[in-house]
Amino acid sequence: MNTPAEDFLRAAPALVDASLRWRHRFATLGPDFYARLAPEPLPHPYWVARSDRLAAELGLDTHWMASDDALAVFAGNAPLAGSSPLASVYGGHQFGNWAGQLGDGRAILLGELLTPSGSGMELQLKGSGLTPFSRMGDGRAVLRSSIREFLASEAMHALGIPTTRALCIVGSNAPVVRETVETAAVVTRVAPSFLRFGHFEYFAWRGKAEALRALLDHAVSHFYPECQRTDVAETACALLAAVTARTAQLMAQWQAVGFCHGVMNTDNMSLIGLTLDYGPFNFLDAFEPGHVCNHTDVLGRYAFDRQPEVARWNLFCLAEALLPLIGEPERAVQALAPYPRLFARAFEARLRAKLGLGDARPGDGALIDALLALLARERVDYTIFWRRLSQHMAGDALAPVRDLFLDRAAFDAWMLRYSERNRTVSRWGMGDLMLKTNPKYILRKHLAEQVIRAATAGDFAPLARLQAVLEAPFDEHPGCDDLADFPPDWAAHLTLSCSS
Ligand code: AMP
Ligand code: MG
Repeated sequence: MNTPAEDFLRAAPALVDASLRWRHRFATLGPDFYARLAPEPLPHPYWVARSDRLAAELGLDTHWMASDDALAVFAGNAPLAGSSPLASVYGGHQFGNWAGQLGDGRAILLGELLTPSGSGMELQLKGSGLTPFSRMGDGRAVLRSSIREFLASEAMHALGIPTTRALCIVGSNAPVVRETVETAAVVTRVAPSFLRFGHFEYFAWRGKAEALRALLDHAVSHFYPECQRTDVAETACALLAAVTARTAQLMAQWQAVGFCHGVMNTDNMSLIGLTLDYGPFNFLDAFEPGHVCNHTDVLGRYAFDRQPEVARWNLFCLAEALLPLIGEPERAVQALAPYPRLFARAFEARLRAKLGLGDARPGDGALIDALLALLARERVDYTIFWRRLSQHMAGDALAPVRDLFLDRAAFDAWMLRYSERNRTVSRWGMGDLMLKTNPKYILRKHLAEQVIRAATAGDFAPLARLQAVLEAPFDEHPGCDDLADFPPDWAAHLTLSCSS
C-alpha cells in the first residue's frame, strides 16, 4: 500500500500554465537535509486573500490564480505540476538556549519557481499539516496568524524591507486547538531561500562536517556568489561577513520603521537577510524602546531596543556553527567585528533619511538621539510623528506635530536644532522625499485584529481594503484615514503569543 505522500506525489498534477518552470536546488543537497512528504488535505477550502502583485511577479496567471484549481493547489489538496514537496530539517537557539533539532514542522517547500525576471523563488505552504519535524505540534496554522503573516509580509515588502513574501491564504472551517478552538488556514510563503542560521547550527551540532560544507557551497553558489574563494575557510569567513552586513542592514530597517519581531530565535534568522517567521510581531504605536510584543517573553529578551544586539548574538551562533569550516575562532570573530559599526552607520543613515537630511554631518547622531529620547519620554506615536513632520516639511503647519507633545518647550528646543541643521536643504523637495520615506500606513496590531474578526465572521472585504493600503503605504488613500489613526484604547489589551 502506498503512503499518503506517495499517493499525492503520483496524483495527476493540477492544471496550470504549462510554461511554469521549476528547479529544485535545495533538494539536490540530499536526504540528510529534508524529508519528502505531501501536504495534508485541507477540508472544504475557501479563498481568504491573494496578492495579485506577487502572482504577477511569479508569472502565475491571474485568472488561474482565481480558479478552483489554484484553490486546491494552495490548500495543499492537489500538486502543482513540477513541484516536489519536502520539509527541511534545522536546529536553533530559542530564547538563548539550544533547542536541538527543529525543522519545517508546519511548512512544506514545493520547490523553486523560475520567475519571468529570471530569478528563482521558493514556494512554501505554511500550515499544511504534520511533518517529521512537527514535534508536539499539529502542523497547522490558524486563520488569525495566517492573516497576520500575509499582511505583514506584503506590508514589509512595500516598505522596502527585505522579507519573505506571501502569495495567498486559503481557509477552512477545520478546527484547530490553540488557547481556544480556532480554524485552519494555509499561507503560501515565497522567498529566494528559506535558509536559516539554524540550518548550519543543526549540522554543526550533529558533527556533520561534510553536510556543513555542502550547505556552505549551496548558500554561496546560489545566494552569495561574491563570497566564493578557493579556500573553504576563506569562503566561510566571507559568507559570515556578508551575512553580518545584511543582518546589520535589516536591523537598521526594523529599528527605523518601528518593527518588533518578537521571536528572534536563530531558527527564525534568515541566512539571506530577510525578515522571516511572522509570529507575535508588532509595529510600535507609541515609541516605547523597551516594548516586548510577545507576552510569553517574560524576560523581555526580544524587546524592541534589544533587537540589534540579539541579532549580533545570533550571528555568533552562526559563526560557531561555521567554525568546523573556518578553523581559527579568531577569523570568525574578525568576520563579525564590523557589526556594531555597520548597524550604527546604517541606522543613522535611515534616521537621517527620515529627517530628510541627505549627507551626513557632525552632530547628526546627537540630533537623532535627542529626538528618540524625547519621543520615548513623551510616548509619542512613532509613525504619526514622522508622517506629520514630513507633512510639515512639505508645507503644512507645525501645529499637528507640536500637538503630539505635552512638553512643548522640549519639542520647540529640538525643532530649533533641526531647523538649524536643515537650513541649507531645500525645504520643498525635502518634504516630498520625507513623505516617500515615512509611511502613513503600517500594520498596527488593532488593524490586524479588526480584519481578523471580520474574516472569522466570513467577511474578507476589510482584509482586502487593508491589504490594498499596506501595498502602497507612502501614498494617500482617500477614505482610509481610519487606517492611519492612533490605536483605540482597546488595542492596549491585545496580547500576542507564539501561537499568534
Ligand atoms: P515557530 O515558533 O513557528 O518559529 O516554530 C518553532 C518550531 O516549532 C519549528 O520547528 C516549527 O516547525 C515548530 N512548530 C511551531 N508551530 C507548530 C505547529 N503548529 N505544528 C508543528 N510544529 C510547529
Ligand atoms: Mg520559526
